[in-house]
Amino acid sequence: MEEMQADIVVIGSGPAGQKAAIQARKLGKKEIVVEKDFRPGGGCLYSGTIPSKSFREAVVDMTRFYDRHFAGKNYTLPAVSMDDLTKRINSVIEEEKNIISRQFQKNDITLLQGSARFENQHTVILVDADYRLKYQLKAETFIIATGSNPRNPVDVPFDRETILDSTTLLSIRKVPKSMIVLGGGVIGSEYASFFAALGTEVSVIDKREHMLPMLDDEIGIQLQTALTSIGLKFFGKKEPIKITKQNGIAHVEFKDGQTLSAEVLLYALGRTANVDALHITNIGIQPDQKGYIPVNALFQTAVPHIYAVGDVIGGPCLASTSMEQGRLAALHACGLRTHFFPAFYPVGIYTIPEISSCGYNEEELKSMGYHYEVGRAHYYEIARSHIAGSNTGLLKILFHAETLEILGVHCIGRNATEVVHIGQMAISFHAHIDFFVDHVFNYPTYAEGYRIAALNGINKIKAKRSL
Ligand SMILES: Cc1cc2nc3c(=O)[nH]c(=O)nc-3n(C[C@H](O)[C@H](O)[C@H](O)COP(=O)(O)OP(=O)(O)OC[C@H]3O[C@@H](n4cnc5c(N)ncnc54)[C@H](O)[C@@H]3O)c2cc1C
Repeated sequence: MEEMQADIVVIGSGPAGQKAAIQARKLGKKEIVVEKDFRPGGGCLYSGTIPSKSFREAVVDMTRFYDRHFAGKNYTLPAVSMDDLTKRINSVIEEEKNIISRQFQKNDITLLQGSARFENQHTVILVDADYRLKYQLKAETFIIATGSNPRNPVDVPFDRETILDSTTLLSIRKVPKSMIVLGGGVIGSEYASFFAALGTEVSVIDKREHMLPMLDDEIGIQLQTALTSIGLKFFGKKEPIKITKQNGIAHVEFKDGQTLSAEVLLYALGRTANVDALHITNIGIQPDQKGYIPVNALFQTAVPHIYAVGDVIGGPCLASTSMEQGRLAALHACGLRTHFFPAFYPVGIYTIPEISSCGYNEEELKSMGYHYEVGRAHYYEIARSHIAGSNTGLLKILFHAETLEILGVHCIGRNATEVVHIGQMAISFHAHIDFFVDHVFNYPTYAEGYRIAALNGINKIKAKRSL
């Protein structure tokens, strides 16, 4: 077993680990990143964000999704194979992997392969897949960024062909004719919409009343309508009690006695933090009830020189927020003052159509007793939307009815995950709604929706004030 010493050891090479490592290196620290997989990039690159978003883009392109609007009844769904889709996903993964490897090399960051476990508060042991000891690493500081994996209960017969999770779904060989998605959260809803766009008969099941219940209600209704129009069926208030496979078909029995069958089942009911292999309880770190590592606002665990960032600490479990957590933890570990994690950040959901929001939603404003107003721009009012062949969508700006300060932005429709950033900046700089009226936007753009929504909101205020 080789012994090595570093200032900081980062465990995990996903977005959280990468950004932590690069930030600390820029501050002159000697670092080692350890990664269980044989390639750097994390779940984000091989089974999460990157493959799922590449899948989405490929589906939209290859099915000529927005042609449906112009072609009307003449639209015929082009045949798209899993092989076509997989090739495209793999080529994106390869490029992204090379970028990450180059960044590690350029910054002179040592990357070691092996699964890390703590021997004591200053020592980590790396073992290979056969549990052979490879390295002993000593450091002043550790940053745990080990991510999460799909939660796969033992009584569900996962088999990589018929009963799948979000990782194994990517390796199916043909586009299924029918699919059951258990879980109407972000991952389930995204994949359900991709397969519905491919022509698969998709049924999404959730114990809650709606898909993505955390959405602003109006945005949620728009989503449901858009998904229904591409053939997706949603069954709420249903709980599976038994999942089986017979003759290559997945069957689900529900608590209410109903049953459903399909060629493929995607089990998307939660994720589990990757903590077991780390043996952290031996060094005084106790996971919380959900299995996540508790941290303070500076991302320090119960042992102050051991930080934890990314999915392993629980929500929001996004690549975007994980990166920033990693960077902030590294800054603090290197003795720099850091700002706290931003109170407002955008959340993107890449269903077809996509959704994004930043700031408060109406329910939150109501519960806090805010006097607010809403400005709306429907996509059918936006010229760019007609040109691009999609008039489904809504941009909604929530603002204070007296001060006019922007408090929240919610968007569904094409480019929503890009469009939201204008609202995010406005919220961060405490901009007022009239800012969007008094400035010129490129035309035709989706961003012009901000002006339309602002005018709509301001006109309502004027109308109320003149009463
Ligand atoms: C299907 C899907 C779609 C998603 N889409 C989006 C999206 O559109 N936008 C977004 O922002 N987020 C998205 N996410 C979430 C995003 O992928 C995660 O939030 C992000 O990957 C978390 O980064 P991380 O660095 O914490 O962990 P990961 O990316 O999971 O990386 C953790 C790494 O640690 C390694 N590791 C684990 N244990 C050990 C150990 N003991 N020793 C050494 N190495 C170890 C793992 O092998 C892995 O490489 C999606 C997730 C999924 C599953």
